[in-house]
Amino acid sequence: MKRWTQMSLPNRILFFIVLGVIAGLVLGPNAQKLKPVGDVFVRLVQMMVILLVTPALISGMAELEDPKKIGRVGVKIAVIFILTTVVAGVLALLLGNILGPGRGFEMALPEGFKYTKPTQTMMDVFVGIVPKNPIAAFAQGNLLSILFVVLFMGFALASLKDTGRVMRSFFAEWTQLSMKMLSWIMELAPFGAGALLAYSVGVHGPKVLGPLGLFVLVVYLGEILILVEYTFIMLFSGINPVRFFKTMIKPMMISFTTCSSMATLAVNVEATEEMGVPNGVATFGITLGNVINMDGTALYQALAVLFVAQVYGLSLPLASQIMVVFMASVVTISMVGVPGAGTATLGLLLMAVGLPVEGIGLVLAVDRICDMPRTMNNVIGDSMVTVLSAKTEGLLAKDSILLKK
Ligand code: ASP
Repeated sequence: MKRWTQMSLPNRILFFIVLGVIAGLVLGPNAQKLKPVGDVFVRLVQMMVILLVTPALISGMAELEDPKKIGRVGVKIAVIFILTTVVAGVLALLLGNILGPGRGFEMALPEGFKYTKPTQTMMDVFVGIVPKNPIAAFAQGNLLSILFVVLFMGFALASLKDTGRVMRSFFAEWTQLSMKMLSWIMELAPFGAGALLAYSVGVHGPKVLGPLGLFVLVVYLGEILILVEYTFIMLFSGINPVRFFKTMIKPMMISFTTCSSMATLAVNVEATEEMGVPNGVATFGITLGNVINMDGTALYQALAVLFVAQVYGLSLPLASQIMVVFMASVVTISMVGVPGAGTATLGLLLMAVGLPVEGIGLVLAVDRICDMPRTMNNVIGDSMVTVLSAKTEGLLAKDSILLKK
């Protein structure tokens, strides 16, 4: 027991991850019984999202010396989010075309599938960000609208100067309170992570050995290449990638096992702050990234579309492939970071290029196994872009560990 408490949290999680894999292999489908343990943990961390984002953003904004700077860094973060998502999509096209994981299958097209256009336009999404009722936005957990409300409040509070003193310390103390709650919840992380991994390996693992094996391999290869891309970006911008990944170990393990970037949000904010990004910027970047930036998912979705086309023996023209990358970037923007979201929304992409939605059924069996690395990359991308933008805007702490050689 004493040894256990002396072990660092990431080590404890790692220990249970290994145990989880073994349990999954031994228990097989019976590992399903362990899932509730993981589910409770995921619910607890999700519970903290609004409780933490709200006060942290308001007080973070209000305490920034120059709140206008967040405007600049905010735009930069958003633009880089979009760029990296497109890169992920293009990477998927290259891998999918070169390696052709779906070639060799010969599936007949389902009879009489219909093409229906998605009804929500980009403009609807933008207009919808402004909530008519802020309480409803909070109740529904609509992160983009919540971001809008709390940023607005933070700016206003910053401009109140002395009059806002009580409110400022209220939100600062509320942030502390949420951090305390989170730190207690994280004590359960080893058990939650272990249980979820046992479930993934036990229930979904064997399916990897089936005909979808090559598809899963190509997905993992693509996700690894995204990490290589991040490493190069950091090297070129004077950020120490080794220290970055070391600090990210907790969010990486939580996202890999829970398959939910939403559940990893609070831990990711913490890690990003630890790297020297000011609180307001870290909370803003990670929260926004949680909603609009999903490189891992964009890669997976584009690969899955190519896979489905190949399985049906269709070849997608270049224009359709470009459409896939575009749609993957748009679809991931409105996606919530919960397990399976990437596969559930795959239908939109399939329809956009005229493929049958039934194609989702082809990849469903290996969804969980592919969800793990893509969620992890979604989370790493949020943090990498936030750190990068903070650094290039001169907002990174001078003594940040990332700047040391
Ligand atoms: N599980 C992913 C996430 O939470 C979304 C997806 O299914 O791709 O980021």
